Amino acid sequence: MLASFIFVTGGVMSSLGKGIAAASIGALLQDRGYSVRMKKLDPYINIDPGTMSPYKHGEVFVMGDGCEADLDFGHYERFTDIKCSANDSLTTGQVYKKVLSKERRGDYLGSDVQVIPHITDEIKKFIVDGHEKVDFTICEIGGTVGDIEGLPYIEAIRQLIIEIGKAKSVCVHLTYLPYMKLTEELKTKPTQHSVKQLQSMGVQPDIILCRSEKEINDEVKSKLSMFCNVKKDNVVSGLDAENIYLIPNRYHLAGLDRQICDHFGVLNSKSEDETEKRIVQRWVSLEHAILSPSKSTKIAIVGKYIKMKDAYISLSQAIIHGGFANDARVEVEWVDAREDFEKIISKLREVSGVLVPGGFDSAGAEGKIASIQFARENKIPFLGICLGLQLAVVELCRNVAGVKNATSREFSDDGEMVIDFMNNWEMNGVTESRSRSGNKGGTMRLGNYRCKIAEGTLVHKIYGASDVIERHRHRFEVNIKKYGDIFQKASIVFSGMSADGTLPEILELTDHPFFIATQAHPEFRSRPFAPHPLFRAFVKAAIGLRR
Ligand code: GLN
Repeated sequence: MLASFIFVTGGVMSSLGKGIAAASIGALLQDRGYSVRMKKLDPYINIDPGTMSPYKHGEVFVMGDGCEADLDFGHYERFTDIKCSANDSLTTGQVYKKVLSKERRGDYLGSDVQVIPHITDEIKKFIVDGHEKVDFTICEIGGTVGDIEGLPYIEAIRQLIIEIGKAKSVCVHLTYLPYMKLTEELKTKPTQHSVKQLQSMGVQPDIILCRSEKEINDEVKSKLSMFCNVKKDNVVSGLDAENIYLIPNRYHLAGLDRQICDHFGVLNSKSEDETEKRIVQRWVSLEHAILSPSKSTKIAIVGKYIKMKDAYISLSQAIIHGGFANDARVEVEWVDAREDFEKIISKLREVSGVLVPGGFDSAGAEGKIASIQFARENKIPFLGICLGLQLAVVELCRNVAGVKNATSREFSDDGEMVIDFMNNWEMNGVTESRSRSGNKGGTMRLGNYRCKIAEGTLVHKIYGASDVIERHRHRFEVNIKKYGDIFQKASIVFSGMSADGTLPEILELTDHPFFIATQAHPEFRSRPFAPHPLFRAFVKAAIGLRR
């Protein structure tokens, strides 16, 4: 058992793809036959990103255990197919919460509580926890080196590297090399500065991963090697890629996993062939599906966070996976649900599928409802996710069952609440209640829930199963207790119900080629090598649309 640690830090600027770099390292080590665990340290003070705006922070990824986490966990799970848990995600808010409750309990009686050692000890404990169960723990440090919030984390890894030794730890520093058109050269100075900053905090990076739009040449490598105190072979090219699934093989060809294994002294020429074979089988085989698929289709995502594409990252990845499964390129038409209806509908006339994603509050709700109506009446494949299901119920109640004031409690207290707070519902033996005044953080129906699927339905055929588990993140539910008759009048078929049979989970229409909506977030479970059945079927239906 190796039980080694790989720390991934970022320099120069944010959004360089540290999460994807960490995920790719994980995937490549798996291709080398090792087991890995992915962890992330997030320097913000929130307990989790659940209360942050998707506009600023991007999607909130939901793990199976219900942990609301940074979207990088989506990359980790998609690239490595590992199931991450709450024990893999740490924020400054959580660290302080732990330390402060210990202080109240009297665990530190007699001492003044300080960043070093109390905060850093807690961070170190988090990093090493469970390391013995895997060959490598890959730990990404969120933010950019130099951020005030990140200091205790860099200090914690500095201490850890001393404690566990260089032979058992490696620091991979991802930086950016801007390209100067005028002189046609990649500039190394920002990288030099960010490495100096890291060194000034006592951490010497071992590998520099250079994100850039042009391939780095030998001269750049030599320069960075000399000024950053890193072996020349450990200056690795991280060329921009047109699709994130091309990255693991690019990094492999640039020598990233080889240099990591070399650092740990586990480079084994005998197993190199096996590794190559696995990488070709997995990542290289995706290249055809990515670069030259035989079919194509266009799907609209009607949402309100569309200016921030990261807000729908798992969703767009699941659609791409659906494309892989159908040998198709799927173009996404981003439609702002808050635009005028005519504008929305004119965009929808150009697409072969309509997807209404998850979301919160009433902004854009009417535009989404109009989109659902358009997809239903024109027999365009429709997939509704979470809020998308709730709005489909509202649309069907209003326009098919004739209940014109049907709405969701999330938007108003006036009208027929076909979507409502879950009050005194039995869920897995626990009585659940939600209200407007309740706490907002971590109080939704979160994580894995079982769903029973009715035989003979389209959804049953798609899943090929009667029992599925999907991840959830929502506060409101379909009010079937009160409005069962109206739902029937609206021709809604609830093809999936919660395990105890009380809550609708999935709906479909029988007089439509593909009209499916789910209360869960199936996008979190889709993988490039195992596209989610609902997305595979949705993309297939979109490809098959004849007008
Ligand atoms: N806002 C809705 C709810 O809380 C839907 C949430 C979502 O789409 N994730 O129930």
